[in-house]
Amino acid sequence: MRLLIMGPPGAGKGTQAAVIAERLSIPAISTGDIFRASVARGTRLGLQAKGFMDAGEYVPDSLTNEMVRERLAEDDVRGGFLLDGYPRTLAQVEVLDGILAQRHTKLDRVLQLSVEVEEVVSRLLRRAEVEGRTDDTEDVIRRRLEVYAEQTAPLLELYANRGVLVQVSGDGPVEEVTERAVVALDSAR
Ligand code: AMP
Repeated sequence: MRLLIMGPPGAGKGTQAAVIAERLSIPAISTGDIFRASVARGTRLGLQAKGFMDAGEYVPDSLTNEMVRERLAEDDVRGGFLLDGYPRTLAQVEVLDGILAQRHTKLDRVLQLSVEVEEVVSRLLRRAEVEGRTDDTEDVIRRRLEVYAEQTAPLLELYANRGVLVQVSGDGPVEEVTERAVVALDSAR
C-alpha cells in the first residue's frame, strides 16, 4: 500500500505512522525525522532547514521535494510506503503525483488523524518537556498550527475529492487510535 498520514502537529502522526507501517510491513518515511537527522549530522540540508524548522515555518519546497525524490528512489519503497509529514503544500502534491506517475503508481489511501486544537497544543507542550524539540515552544507551536491550517489543511479536501481520504479520530490511547486506523484502512480497500 502507498499511504500518507495527515493531521495537525501533535495529532500523533509520527507515533501512528511507525506502528501502522510496521503492521503493514512498509517503511514509514517522515520528512520531519529526515530533517532532524540532517540537522543533528550538520549536513548542508540540515543547515539549510534548521532556521525554518525552529521558526515553525515550512522548509522550502525545492529542498523538501528533492529530499523526498531521493528517498522514494530507494529500493525499500517498491512494495509501498507510508509518508508522514509530506506532502504539506499543493506544490508538493504535484511533485509527489509526478514521482508516482513516472512509476505508474498512485496513492492508495490518505489517513487523516483528527484532533482538537487545544488538545494538540497541550500534547505538544508535554512533548516539549520529554523530547526537548526546539520547535515545541508555545509560540512556535501556534505558528506551526497556523501554517498547517493555511497550507496543509486544504490538501485534505483535494484528497477527499480524489476519493482516497480516510478519517479517524486521533483522540485516546495510542493502541485505540491504531486499531481505528487499521480498521478504517482495511474497510476502505
Ligand atoms: P514534523 O516532524 O513533521 O512536525 O516536521 C517538523 C518540521 O520539519 C516542520 O515544522 C517543517 O519545518 C519541517 N518539515 C517537515 N516536513 C516538511 C514538508 N513536507 N515541507 C516543508 N517542511 C517540512
